[in-house]
Amino acid sequence: MSCNNSVKSTPVHRIDLPRSVLVGRGVLTSISEICRELGYRKALIVTGKNTWKVAGERTQQILANDGIHCTRTIVGDAQLETVGRVMEEAQKKQVQVLIGVGGGRNIDVAKLAAANTQNAFISVPTVASHDGIASSLASIKGMERLYTVKAISPVAVVMDSGIIASSPYRFTAAGCGDVISKATEVEDWKLAHIENGEYYGAYAGSLALMSSQLIMESAMKIKENTAETVRDLLEALISCGVSMSIAGSSRPCSGSAHLFSHSLDLISDKPALHGEQCGVGAIMMAKLHGLNWERIRDSLKVIGAPTTASHLGIPSEKIIKALVQAQVIRPDRYTILTKIRLNRASAETLAKETGVI
Ligand SMILES: [Zn+2]
Repeated sequence: MSCNNSVKSTPVHRIDLPRSVLVGRGVLTSISEICRELGYRKALIVTGKNTWKVAGERTQQILANDGIHCTRTIVGDAQLETVGRVMEEAQKKQVQVLIGVGGGRNIDVAKLAAANTQNAFISVPTVASHDGIASSLASIKGMERLYTVKAISPVAVVMDSGIIASSPYRFTAAGCGDVISKATEVEDWKLAHIENGEYYGAYAGSLALMSSQLIMESAMKIKENTAETVRDLLEALISCGVSMSIAGSSRPCSGSAHLFSHSLDLISDKPALHGEQCGVGAIMMAKLHGLNWERIRDSLKVIGAPTTASHLGIPSEKIIKALVQAQVIRPDRYTILTKIRLNRASAETLAKETGVI
């Protein structure tokens, strides 16, 4: 009996991961070595005004000393027009690699501009406030979607823990909030699998969940905020980026707590940091999931991340509104908020019971 006809083709699952990840004090000096190894001779640094002083200028010097031609462009926002401007510069200067040096905005602009110009992208974060520093996704304003878009996975991530430990601690605490929120985001993914028949990748889900657990366990240590203790967070952020690359989407890292954060971004005049909002969202979503929400809250408290509306600087009324509207932002993403449709009254009760308002 021939089995040729019964052979079914399995769908191709492509996983793009960084080739080099450097974590440690002083690793910025290795950036020229990485560029040389990968064959890049012409680079464009995408950075902000402050981050230029923090690490951009040094990056340029290190590359120039090693004979790598390097120019820079300063960006002030993560608007689609800015991405267009950076793309033009990259094409005009015929670079091979875009190096994003800074926080969310600079990294995201460099990432999408690199993807759109078929160039490589290297991520050099100066803060550890969210997992986008190691993922293939970018958050850009001015697009029809309010959440992240697929860009390109960094070919290398250079995380100098000395630089990151010197950044304002608020960013590090926010990064912990983003990682801790994976406890509820993975639960949302599992729920979507059970109730909505979606694919669930156990490996990607477990990796994101483990990162969340490890940060909660290391809360006391992270609070010390040294180049050594910040490593736990940096490795957790890398793992989150890898989990998204394995899943092929933001699914393991972005569920109901992230929808709550996106919702706050829309309705707040002055939103807090992404990771801060996700952490507070995770406290409430954990309660909806029947998880140990007190543990999430207590871990955030130990770290010094916000756990209440007043910590976020957002009025209670906007928290309630954001909870009710969260699922509307992305109806295709099944979460606990799809199952439990919050109305004004139930949203207020949830926020009050968890001490958020
Ligand atoms: Zn996030």
